[in-house]
Amino acid sequence: MGTVTAPEITTMLTLPGDPVRQIQWRFADRFDLQMLVQSARGVARTTVARLVAAGERNTHEWTAGKAEMLEAFDRAGVTAAFMEPEEGGFIAGPKNLALALSAFELAWVDGGAATASLASFLALSPIHERGTQEQVTRYKSLAAPPQPGEDRKPWRGAFALTEPIPYVGVDTGMLSGKISVAEWNEGEEPWLQVNKRGRFITNIAFANFVTAAVNSCDPRIKGSCMIILEDTDEGTFDRGTPTKKLVHQLSSTGDPIFNLKVPASRIVGGYTVKDGIIVPNFNHGEVIEAVFRRTRVPVGLMTSAKLLSAVEPVIRYQRERFRGAEGSKPGSVRYEQGIQQREDALHRLVDVWAAGEAGTSMGFAAARLFDTLEPIEKQKTAILKERGVQGGRAEMKALKESEHRAVELLSLPENSLRRAELEVDPLVDYVLKDAEANVICPATKLWNTGHGANMMREALSLMGGYGITEDCPGFLGSKWTDSALEAIYEGPEAVQRRQLTVTMTGEVFLAQFRGWTSEMRRIASDRPGTGACTLASAMNLWLWTLNYLQRATDPDGNKLYHGQRQGVTFALADALCWLLASRYQILDVLELEARGAENPVVAEGLAGTVQFLSDLCHTQAAQAAGEASRICGELVFGYNQHPAWQDGEHRNCFLASELEDYEITMPGITSIAVDVLGDDGSHPAKAGPCAGCAGSSEFLRLQNKLTICLSGSRLAKDRAAETVSRVMIPEALDYPA
Ligand SMILES: Cc1cc2nc3c(=O)[nH]c(=O)nc-3n(C[C@H](O)[C@H](O)[C@H](O)COP(=O)(O)OP(=O)(O)OC[C@H]3O[C@@H](n4cnc5c(N)ncnc54)[C@H](O)[C@@H]3O)c2cc1C
Repeated sequence: MGTVTAPEITTMLTLPGDPVRQIQWRFADRFDLQMLVQSARGVARTTVARLVAAGERNTHEWTAGKAEMLEAFDRAGVTAAFMEPEEGGFIAGPKNLALALSAFELAWVDGGAATASLASFLALSPIHERGTQEQVTRYKSLAAPPQPGEDRKPWRGAFALTEPIPYVGVDTGMLSGKISVAEWNEGEEPWLQVNKRGRFITNIAFANFVTAAVNSCDPRIKGSCMIILEDTDEGTFDRGTPTKKLVHQLSSTGDPIFNLKVPASRIVGGYTVKDGIIVPNFNHGEVIEAVFRRTRVPVGLMTSAKLLSAVEPVIRYQRERFRGAEGSKPGSVRYEQGIQQREDALHRLVDVWAAGEAGTSMGFAAARLFDTLEPIEKQKTAILKERGVQGGRAEMKALKESEHRAVELLSLPENSLRRAELEVDPLVDYVLKDAEANVICPATKLWNTGHGANMMREALSLMGGYGITEDCPGFLGSKWTDSALEAIYEGPEAVQRRQLTVTMTGEVFLAQFRGWTSEMRRIASDRPGTGACTLASAMNLWLWTLNYLQRATDPDGNKLYHGQRQGVTFALADALCWLLASRYQILDVLELEARGAENPVVAEGLAGTVQFLSDLCHTQAAQAAGEASRICGELVFGYNQHPAWQDGEHRNCFLASELEDYEITMPGITSIAVDVLGDDGSHPAKAGPCAGCAGSSEFLRLQNKLTICLSGSRLAKDRAAETVSRVMIPEALDYPA
């Protein structure tokens, strides 16, 4: 008798669970992170969900209920996730992925709750990144939740950069906050007077300390800095009125006024005294840059969490839509499938789901990259210090050589000796990772929140009128409006685009990007169903367009790729983000496929899950390719003056009378001549003779290829839709409506 084996299930039967996500987002071997996810989820789906359901979002005031939420964070270990074990935390080493996972879980229920948790970390970040050891120890220990048996309340912090109009907003250089010397006795530490007004400052209703950006207005202090203020400092610590915001109401926001006397030791990162002048070790720009490059990643992930959180409520709504109606009997298609009988409803949900997957994959990749980068960055600083190089231009110059080596490494075959030699060079490793991080951090913030907000609107529209009510399961309406804030705070889209336009043209990044394009082709040859080939073609087109635009000029002879020309540079940055998100999404599915069998729970339905997630990749890759193609086409052709019928610009047109003569020697020419002028000057009804474009044939060849590469993508979408119509979901949402 032969053995009977069960047929392999190739359809995804249930929504991807934790074990699948742990593999995709690479924390299957991190028990500490798995615990953190469970704790954050616990608070999100109980305390936070109850607050939202009870209408706590309807007030701008800081309430007892909202304060209780912070204590629930403390009890669950969410607050301690930022600290080192010796500071009261439980995760050793870099914590970017930890904080990203925790923010993701909280935002799954409410963005304001996630922000309330992140804002304290944001306040601590300047100290963590650039503070002196004393500052780090003092503020992180005070902000750590009390240990069992310890009777104290943890300190909360706020980060104050933004100022009342017309000062700091996007442009962080325009500071009005001031410091001056208040008292300076011979041989003693100076005391400083800090004058700062904030606008839209999170956590301000209850903050015990504030890290504020200020500029010197005193010749005895050089430049700007960030400075730590405490609510018990001498002077005014006015928390201001709460901001009447429409979003994130579970966090506190207000416009504070500070006029405080503080010791100079509060300057973040310390200072030196040179010729009787206080010189901060870091100016405010240096501190902020170090902070935002990491903290923007969890913000991007917050919006992606919302998209994925919408899947289950939408499926439930669609399926149950007609239940209870007279003509809709159990067992009938109308009863069982509801709106899911309709292709459009399924396809739109597939789009929402795919965008959520792509953003999440890119965001977690960015968080992990910062975790790996952190020790390498320290190593880089130590090496350069040994060589007598410290910060600023000197460092950039010193790293140029490593950049050349990094580009060389990327050009070498896998098994070459020289490659092996370069791979172990820590400075080469640093510039490679740094180049990638400098692109995917702003890409995550920009694309996940911007495109995410658009897709969130799609998600709630799938619930019809219900979507835009407070009662909507999963609070989708609130999540949509909240996404708009996520696109703004910690620097709105223009800031991210501006950063991308610089970092995406770096030599090292572009060399990596070329490598990634080949990588996608290789993946496509094994896994054509992922859309990797479509993506590779779109990446090629993007790169061609960037090269072209860097050389091309407009009709007035002005350069097209130029910092001031945001119409070109920003659009190209947008196109890149689509491509990158799609790439990381594909890589995560490959990881699942490679490692899924190691976990028996995942192994059981692996083939089906991989098939479905690959179909989502293909769907997303096709959309990304379409966006890139549209943007690149507009940029390549859009800056050429369209020829007009007047002004002799019709030199290349045929005259109708000429054509009659030509027809004798070239029979058929009349039927192919498109721009024909009549003797009376009449012409076809269109803008002018068709435009030509230098280099257009190569662009069109690539674009044509790209269009052909879309083959199969709609079949993938159909297959994904079919799965969405059958996948099992729990009986009810696991948090209150
Ligand atoms: C709820 C909430 C909480 C916040 N929390 C904090 C906090 O805790 N701490 C803090 O310091 N700040 C905080 N902020 C402030 C937030 O970071 C700023 O609102 C944001 O950076 C944008 O600045 P702005 O509002 O002055 O917009 P503006 O600078 O006026 O920008 C308006 C528009 O113009 C565009 N724009 C501006 N400059 C350019 C340019 N050079 N090129 C192209 N386009 C441009 C922008 O993209 C945007 O679309 C918070 C804001 C809100 C709403």
